Amino acid sequence: HARRIEGMEKNIWLEFTQLAADCKAVNLGQGFPDFSPPDFVKKAFVQATEGEDFILHQYTRAFGHPALVKILSRFFGKIMGRQIDPLGNILVTVGAYEALFCTFQALVDEGDEVILIEPFFDCYEPMVKMAGGHAVYVPLRPKAAQGAALSSSDWVLDPEELASKFTKHTKAIVLNTPNNPLGKVYKREELQVIADLCVKHGALCISDEVYEWHVYDGAEHVKIATLPGMWEHTITIGSAGKTFSATGWKVGWAMGPDHLLKHAQTVHQNCVYHCATAAQEAVAHGFQRELDYFGKPESYFLQFPRQLQQKRSRLAQSLLAVGMQPIMPEGGYFLIADISTLKADLQDSSDANQEPYDYRFVKWMIKNKGLATIPVSAFYSAEHKKDFENYVRFCFVKEDSTLCAAEKILKEWS
Ligand code: PMP
Ligand code: GLN
Repeated sequence: HARRIEGMEKNIWLEFTQLAADCKAVNLGQGFPDFSPPDFVKKAFVQATEGEDFILHQYTRAFGHPALVKILSRFFGKIMGRQIDPLGNILVTVGAYEALFCTFQALVDEGDEVILIEPFFDCYEPMVKMAGGHAVYVPLRPKAAQGAALSSSDWVLDPEELASKFTKHTKAIVLNTPNNPLGKVYKREELQVIADLCVKHGALCISDEVYEWHVYDGAEHVKIATLPGMWEHTITIGSAGKTFSATGWKVGWAMGPDHLLKHAQTVHQNCVYHCATAAQEAVAHGFQRELDYFGKPESYFLQFPRQLQQKRSRLAQSLLAVGMQPIMPEGGYFLIADISTLKADLQDSSDANQEPYDYRFVKWMIKNKGLATIPVSAFYSAEHKKDFENYVRFCFVKEDSTLCAAEKILKEWS
């Protein structure tokens, strides 16, 4: 095999999703809704494929179906308070995954350093490495408050520690807000610290905002690209899968200034070329509808987070009831909780000495309790896994019946 994929064979999603399916476990693991997307996007998809016209079954524009880039530019232009060029500032990709991949391939060179904030969505690390870059890690640390930190907002960057990670080799920092797996939603002041460092060092910010609509308790999602001077330094990444609860559609995008985005387009045109036309057409309809209802009670972007907030609170309550300590997320699909209070006899685990405790715990829980989650140390670098092996990640974007089944398992634990 090629050296660039050395050591990347294992994948947390393949491993744990398969195990959950094999054991028919109640699945609060992989992040996807176990319910349908809203009717308006489903209908739009059906319409896109049912019409007499052949056109939506054929190739479309490489960098994004015209209807989609047009509405994305209008929608995000309004949100960001700037003119967004549908042709030069947007690249539509096969999910946010491909947007991330194209961005790293296009902008990170051999020997460049890329700062990753722990915990981070796992694929950032192999993507940096495949581009020839070196990942440099900086952790979010739980504030040493009295008692345990209870909210994702208590997990913060130390500004001095962060500054110390920027060197003359730093090409970029990856930001993920709302964060997966923690649910942290960065405040404007926190983003300003990152932005100042990017500007000072001429570094880029790759801002993964796939959960931008999923914020709770009045938290505000701020786009770092809207901070003074940051548009020129930022590639913002989004996902229609997350936006419209249709993760299997695999439509995503990268957005940014021409001088950066054109290089991501170069990668895309030479590998994927374009993403499914009908799916792009349906997503375009979805955004058109949301633009029409912007800020109105009918808006899915307003309604859906309210439903999710209830699911989040419900899950948090059942965890508390069994003596677990949830870290309340301000946003995103997930909640992490401390497992040290849960009794588990892991002696049957064969690779006891190699894997972090949370990996072994989750495997044991899937097999013995029929409940699937994701170990949080999967979102840490090899050096730091051992320091964060007492948490698991629960996905709460699930039917109430699924949450109820999980609740039952937890209640009957001992
Ligand atoms: N970034 C983050 C933080 C994610 O959690 C995910 C998984 N949904 C992705 C990117 C990939 O998104 P997509 O499914 O659109 O490829
Ligand atoms: N982003 C989703 C999660 O964090 C799923 C990623 C995947 O399945 N590859 O659960």
